[in-house]
Amino acid sequence: MAYEPFNLKGKVALVTGGNRGIGLGMARALAQAGSDVVIWGSSATHNLAALGQLDTLGVRVLAQQVDVSDEAAVVAAMAEAVVAMGRVDTVIANAGIGAGARSFSEMTVEIWRRNMAVNLEGAFFTCREACRHMVARAQAGDPGGSIAVTSSLAAIDGAARNEAYAATKGGVIAMIKAIAVEHARWGVRANAILPGWIATDMTAGSQASTVFNEKVISRVPIRRWGEPEDFGGIAVYLASSASKYHTGDTFLIDGGYAIF
Ligand code: NAP
Repeated sequence: MAYEPFNLKGKVALVTGGNRGIGLGMARALAQAGSDVVIWGSSATHNLAALGQLDTLGVRVLAQQVDVSDEAAVVAAMAEAVVAMGRVDTVIANAGIGAGARSFSEMTVEIWRRNMAVNLEGAFFTCREACRHMVARAQAGDPGGSIAVTSSLAAIDGAARNEAYAATKGGVIAMIKAIAVEHARWGVRANAILPGWIATDMTAGSQASTVFNEKVISRVPIRRWGEPEDFGGIAVYLASSASKYHTGDTFLIDGGYAIF
């Protein structure tokens, strides 16, 4: 009998921040593996552009305009997604912003709270609604589910001038480990993904900087920027039964940067 855990036909995956960058790379791979896909983004224009790509992949696709920092919007959107798609098996809380300051001394409370609102509270609202759905389903006799959060290398490496961002990314690792322990009894797994330096809109300024490329990217052992499609594999793995005994872990995907 063939080993086919990566065939995701019949499953539904929801990716927040799935209309661009790393999230779209994950959504595309999930759809190519056969999963129906739900993407969330705060911009209708970005959602429409992503739909144009995902709609060609032969699975059901739903794009919802949701600001993840808005608790009521997240609650309503998750409920709507479950009704529209019948169930949600995998939820990846990936939406994020990277607001820094010229120095920590100059970091305002507005910058601090904006990072917290989107990256930490947004992940909290998203994961909590995912858990509510998955636990209710398990209590009705259908256990299982996979939750992932996109953290960052910034959670474990000193991210100068980005202390607020780094705090949110450390926070989501602590949160996801607690979720993993609490929900294992329902068959729900929870893991964190830590990207290194990835070429997306978020890093456009650094990509354009000669100094950054010479001093930082030259030190990446794989010798290039990461790309959104480099996150397809981990998304499919975590959505699949191949990871059924894998929970509470952190996946560092950085081309080897952190170990060099
Ligand atoms: P990106 O290209 O800027 O994409 C950010 C995504 O998040 C977009 O889909 C955006 O959609 C969505 N988003 C932002 N604010 C939102 C909100 N309030 N509500 C809903 N959606 C929102 O960034 P990326 O590099 O792909 O980042 C994805 C994740 O990876 C983030 O959590 C980021 O912190 C993390 N990460 C990135 C890197 C990197 O080097 N790029 C490294 C480590 C970690 P809309 O435009 O529609 O709002």
